Amino acid sequence: MPNAQHTPVVPLEAGAGPENPPCPACGEPLFGWLSPRPGLRGAVSRCESCGLGVAGEPGEPEEALRELGHRGERPRIANRASFAASLGSAGWAGLEPGAHYLFTVESVRRLVARRDQVVKSRRWAPAASLAATWQTLLNSVTFGHNVALGALGRGEAAKAPEPWQRRIDALATIVLAIPALLIALPVELAGGLTGRGAVITLRLELL
Ligand SMILES: [Zn+2]
Repeated sequence: MPNAQHTPVVPLEAGAGPENPPCPACGEPLFGWLSPRPGLRGAVSRCESCGLGVAGEPGEPEEALRELGHRGERPRIANRASFAASLGSAGWAGLEPGAHYLFTVESVRRLVARRDQVVKSRRWAPAASLAATWQTLLNSVTFGHNVALGALGRGEAAKAPEPWQRRIDALATIVLAIPALLIALPVELAGGLTGRGAVITLRLELL
C-alpha cells in the first residue's frame, strides 16, 4: 500500500473542544449520537473509547460514580454496548426518561478505578435483557417510548403526546408483542453469549 504512509492519523484527543467535551469515565472526547426528544435530558453523546453515553451535559466523573453508586453493591446497567442499543439506536429501551449516564462495562471499569475498585465479575441478566430488547423492538413502531414496560410496571414510559397516538401505541404493542418477542429471543441470546447482552449485573471489589 504505497499510500499508507500518507494517511493522516488523527488522535482522538484532537477532537476535544467545546463541541466535544471529555468523557467523564475516560477523558476522551464525546461525539454526538442522538438528537434531543421529549423525555430525554438533551442530545445524547457517546464516547468512542469506553462506550459511555451521556444524555444532556456531561458532568464530572464523581457525578457519574454517584449515579452508579445509587444502584447498590452490585450495580445493574442497561448496556450501551449491547446488541439492543446498536440495533435500537434512538429506540433503545435503555434511553429511559431522565437517564443521564448510559453505562458500558468498560466505562464502569474506568470510573470505579478512580476509587480503587475493579469490576470483579459481570453477569448477563437474561430476563431483564430479553424484556429490554423486546421493548427496543416495539419502540421502533410506537410514537411513545418504553410503553410496554411502563404498562407492565417495569420502567418509566415516555407516552406519546396525542390521545390517538397513545391508542395506536397500545394497539401496536398488543398486536406485535408476540412477533417482537420471537425476534428479541435470538437477538438477545446472541448478545448474551457474546458479552453484548442488554442488561448486565456487575460485581465491584476494592483493590
Ligand atoms: Zn469514555
